[in-house]
Formats: sequence, C-alpha cells, structure tokens
Amino acid sequence: MGAENAITGLTRGGTPWVPQFAVALDEAKCIGCGRCYKVCPRDVLTIVQRAIDDIDLDDEDDDDEDDDSDNSFMTLSNPMDCIGCEACSRVCPKACFTHDTAALAA
Ligand code: SF4
Ligand code: SF4
Repeated sequence: MGAENAITGLTRGGTPWVPQFAVALDEAKCIGCGRCYKVCPRDVLTIVQRAIDDIDLDDEDDDDEDDDSDNSFMTLSNPMDCIGCEACSRVCPKACFTHDTAALAA
C-alpha cells in the first residue's frame, strides 16, 4: 500500500511516521520462542499448541539450537489492536511477520 491515505502518526518532535501493522504471521516458520509476545505492547499475539500430528516426534535428534519450542506457535489473535511498531519483527529470529500500512477509515 502507498503512504498516501495511510494511517500516519507523529513522533514527539512532530516528525510524521507511518505505522507498519502486523498483517500476517507465518505459523509454519514460527518456533514458538515467545520473543514477540514479550515485546508487543498491545494484546495482539497469542501462543497456541500445535496439533499432535504437526509435532516432530524425532526432535531428540534435532540439533537446531534455536529450536526453542517446536510444539507451539504464535498467532495474530487480535490484529486490530496492533499499533504498527514492528517490535515483534525486530526480535523474531525466523522473520515470521509481514507488515503493511493501513488505510484511514472513510
Ligand atoms: S507491530 Fe507492535 S503492536 Fe503490532 S503485533 Fe508487532 S509488536 Fe505488537
Ligand atoms: S518471535 Fe517469531 S519465532 Fe518467536 S514466537 Fe514470535 S513469531 Fe514465532
């Protein structure tokens, strides 16, 4: 989306900035580490358990060091409360998030 007609904020010093809202989260890439949940200032994210069929039962042989919690993943449970700060993406080790601007309501 272009910046024209996008929701635009101001810094304290009066400089415009365009929030980049979290619009998608790749649940297949997510390792359930919870980093995004810890930094999100809004009630946007919820961690959920994977279905038993999706869990890698050979995990003991998996030497992936940042394989924090393969049996859970993060979801965008309340995306309309997002303020577009991008803190979640700054801490996500797997680049799970997609962000976009949002149009001003008519
Ligand atoms: S952009 Fe900010 S408010 Fe939105 S989900 Fe990420 S951390 Fe939360
Ligand atoms: S920081 Fe990334 S990998 Fe970790 S729980 Fe959040 S979306 Fe998943």
